[in-house]
Amino acid sequence: MLQQVDSNLHKKLLTREELDAYDPESESWQKQFARRYTHHSELTGVLNNLENVNETVYNKFAIAISPTMVKLMDRDDPNCPIRLQYLPSHHEESKPGFATSLDQLGEEGDTIAGTSVVHRYPRRVLFLVSNTCSTLCRFCTRKRMVSQPAGTVAKDQIEASIDYIAGNQDIEDVLLSGGDPLTFTDERLDHILGELRRRAPHVRFLRIGSRMVVQMPTRVTPELCAMLEKHRVQMINIHIDHPKEITPLLRERVKLIQKAGIMMGLQTVCLKGVNDSVEVMRELFMQSIEMGVRPYYVYSTDMVEGAHHFIVPHRRMLELYEGLRGWISGPAVPTFIVDGMGGLGKLPIIPSYVREEARPDGSGTTVKCRNYKGMTVEMPGLGQDFSLPTQSN
Ligand SMILES: *Cc1c(COP(=O)(O)O)cnc(C)c1O
Ligand code: SF4
Repeated sequence: MLQQVDSNLHKKLLTREELDAYDPESESWQKQFARRYTHHSELTGVLNNLENVNETVYNKFAIAISPTMVKLMDRDDPNCPIRLQYLPSHHEESKPGFATSLDQLGEEGDTIAGTSVVHRYPRRVLFLVSNTCSTLCRFCTRKRMVSQPAGTVAKDQIEASIDYIAGNQDIEDVLLSGGDPLTFTDERLDHILGELRRRAPHVRFLRIGSRMVVQMPTRVTPELCAMLEKHRVQMINIHIDHPKEITPLLRERVKLIQKAGIMMGLQTVCLKGVNDSVEVMRELFMQSIEMGVRPYYVYSTDMVEGAHHFIVPHRRMLELYEGLRGWISGPAVPTFIVDGMGGLGKLPIIPSYVREEARPDGSGTTVKCRNYKGMTVEMPGLGQDFSLPTQSN
């Protein structure tokens, strides 16, 4: 006899009443995962002023949004910072005045053949384990693989990746990313992390990048944390773009991770209309350090197809940085980064506060210093070399 299945269990929450009544803590993350909205028309009963985008957006990038994230969206305001990050818009179809690509960072070129390991920098690798996320960001830098069937990370690719890391004594830092590694079951993650620890004892630092912690905090369970602790995962970087994403539920689950002795970092993408204001960034980074999560990087939006409308100009990013440094707690100030096109790698975007200049009279150099309030001072002593002749014996 067929077992009676509760048909409500995986139902999408198509009305406002159902969504309001929904408690993500009442069910497993897998069940919430099955309730994700995957077409914009599914949201017409829960959000007003919804843009009716052309079906062609789906050819470029799928739509998937967790109920937890939709609950955070403003019901009416189309410019809500959560809506802007996850709902598709007609801007995605327009052509920007510059070159875009699906692999703007040139990661394919640095991927070791047969694996999903990007080995670009000395001593550390990016290990792309999953090709999906719990909720898809419209500006995703890895559109080429995230939720694209062609970009699926196959099981044998993962095994080949572990082989590569095990066989390279130089690799001392492995960053698991994707997609989102936490979309895997505990068992699958347990296997990958266990194999890495067992076969690559030379790896000193093991970290995971995950936005699922934020998009579906119930993914973080005591069982998951115990498993991560067992494999000595040292750091988890989460991705938050707006203070609205920091909820009591997120804080509670972050604490579970921290109790497992794992340090936590924050990554943010600088997005026009979402967080390109000093006030929003100050609030985001202060809330982040309040929960013990250290702001690590602010990335400029990558020039991937369908994301150009989010790009914040370089000069504005410098202003945003200047609005943080000196004005809020030092540990709350992240490094601003642009990932150089074609595989150049991460490059810091840093205003110049201290500059060495030639003296007008030709007598060497002086160092001009400027503080966060715009006060300046010259420090000629910093332009000199006071080293003494070395003594020989
Ligand atoms: C970002 C990144 C890393 C890690 O860089 P850190 O600056 O050490 O955090 C490693 N490999 C690739 C390809 C990356 O893009
Ligand atoms: S969480 Fe990261 S990898 Fe996943 S869709 Fe968003 S930007 Fe892309």
